[in-house]
Amino acid sequence: MEHLATAQARLRSARRVAVLTGAGISKPSGIPTFRDAAGLWKDFDPEEYATPQAYARNPQKVWEWYAWRYRKVQEAQPNPAHELLVRLEGQVGEGFLLVTQNVDGLHRRAGSRRLVELHGNIAQGRCERCEYRFALPAPEDFVPPPLCPACGFRARPDVVWFGEILPEGAFERAWQAFALAELALVIGTSAEVEPAASLGRLAAESGAYLIEINPEPTLLSRWADCVLRMGAVEGMQALLEG
Ligand code: NAD
Ligand code: ZN
Repeated sequence: MEHLATAQARLRSARRVAVLTGAGISKPSGIPTFRDAAGLWKDFDPEEYATPQAYARNPQKVWEWYAWRYRKVQEAQPNPAHELLVRLEGQVGEGFLLVTQNVDGLHRRAGSRRLVELHGNIAQGRCERCEYRFALPAPEDFVPPPLCPACGFRARPDVVWFGEILPEGAFERAWQAFALAELALVIGTSAEVEPAASLGRLAAESGAYLIEINPEPTLLSRWADCVLRMGAVEGMQALLEG
């Protein structure tokens, strides 16, 4: 386990740390991933829910699906992997950035602050007319679709759908953090969704020490200096507490 010891030492000394998380980190919180055998898309066709075209065709159907996921996510709790990333942020300080592809908001709820939610947040709406973003009403009071608190127009889920561009500035911030990182940590993502998938490779090519935590091999694995073939919780515990 020389690899693990090296990874731990690198993590302790790095001043610029960039982390990317995907659906796998929230699986121990009971939120299904997209591509796993038991994943969300096995029962739902993404084309019918997570595209601008689907929303234009049937906004109510799409909203009801998002409202259902919003309820599920609010019932879930951050797990020790989310919490250990908060601790890591505290240790590294200013040079830390956590980039997530998840829309579940669990990093924010766990207490992460140097955070970029690349694909938005399922607990928010965004006005279709004035772009105002706002927190959805509590799940038990929420009847979709929500109306914009600023102008009264209909709002859409504040998430990035297939074929849409990422929120302004978010990807640039992520890109910069990974290009400048001394150490990059990629947890629980299949690394199949671009452009986020390139971040780990960017860091490796820019000279960062790259750690991957994922129970399954991914396209990123061959770029990693240290691969922890385990779940997010076990992997973060091994890195920070092992
Ligand atoms: P993905 O479903 O493509 O891949 C999940 C990855 O997690 C797989 O590589 C799998 O091997 C790994 N994994 C499974 N169990 C794990 C565990 N216990 N610990 C660590 N890793 C584990 O997910 P992705 O790469 O994030 O896909 C990208 C898209 O999925 C994004 O657009 C994202 O918005 C969306 N998504 C988000 C959520 C969420 O917010 N929680 C859930 C599903 C999908
Ligand atoms: Zn508005």
